[in-house]
Amino acid sequence: MDSVTVRVPAKVNLQLAVGPLREDGYHDLVNVFHAVSIFDEVTAAAESGMSVRVEGESADQVPENDDNLAIQAAVALARHAGRSYGVSLAIRKTIPVAGGMAGGSADAAAALVACNELWGLGLPVEDLMEIAADLGSDVPFALLGGTAVGTGRGERLTPLEVGGTFHWVFALADEGLSTAKVYGECDRVRETAGEQAAPPRTSEPLLAALRAGDAKALGAELTNDLQPAALSLRGSLARTLDTGRQHGALGSLVSGSGPTCAFLAESEAHAAALAASLRDAGVARDVLVAHGPVPGPTVV
Ligand code: ATP
Repeated sequence: MDSVTVRVPAKVNLQLAVGPLREDGYHDLVNVFHAVSIFDEVTAAAESGMSVRVEGESADQVPENDDNLAIQAAVALARHAGRSYGVSLAIRKTIPVAGGMAGGSADAAAALVACNELWGLGLPVEDLMEIAADLGSDVPFALLGGTAVGTGRGERLTPLEVGGTFHWVFALADEGLSTAKVYGECDRVRETAGEQAAPPRTSEPLLAALRAGDAKALGAELTNDLQPAALSLRGSLARTLDTGRQHGALGSLVSGSGPTCAFLAESEAHAAALAASLRDAGVARDVLVAHGPVPGPTVV
């Protein structure tokens, strides 16, 4: 086999409950991940060394060296297999960079699947999951896809039953936000307010809305504990969220650590209309329409 191309989706968090800061510097989370139809494509081709090229959405902000998460995934997989393999990776980005939609994690998951195939390793998904958890908290979900709740740092996953398709609109911001900075701001905002973070718990009404495929109920249950921190760092997002609500979004929230804003629509037609309103209002660099849940990395 000369090359393998894998398509991998972005995620939005339907619930992100952030517990107190742990001694290891991480937070205990309840993280309900939902894979949506905004895709990066990663092509792995046979080569003696390791290299990566990036094109597409904000490609200039993605490293083309060993800092790239997809290269780190390929290196970790080769190490796991105990052999020195080479690969040239070509990433075509559509997922916003540093947008709170786990684009880097998605590319890492895609690289694991593509290299496993290219190198003929035939490793089971359990092995890939182990490697994924070492690469980053969001990489295991990126390998799984669909909808799932993650506990611990978000890496201990339980797939969730979903009774329908949900229609989403995403408003992209001009500049990304660093995930580490947003968590730091979350701790700072809580400390200033004298707030004690409670141990995070999965929202039962949210799980019920997912099972029923009930968009209206789901819209009312969307929550993100990182949102106050993202708004504190990027005040303009408040207007973006308001605009979506004014145009009938069933729910709205900052996606993960932001700054992308997510809006739940009633239907595909409503999503298209909502996207047009957000574009007209000029509150976003770009607006994307998507649906979820969608499967994880797929060889194309
Ligand atoms: P998350 O939602 O997991 O917190 P994010 O979506 O906010 O992440 P990413 O797009 O994953 O953020 O990018 C975070 C940083 O990682 C970027 O600043 C980028 O320089 C770096 N990075 C490394 N590899 C990649 C990659 N393959 N794609 C995107 N960013 C990458």
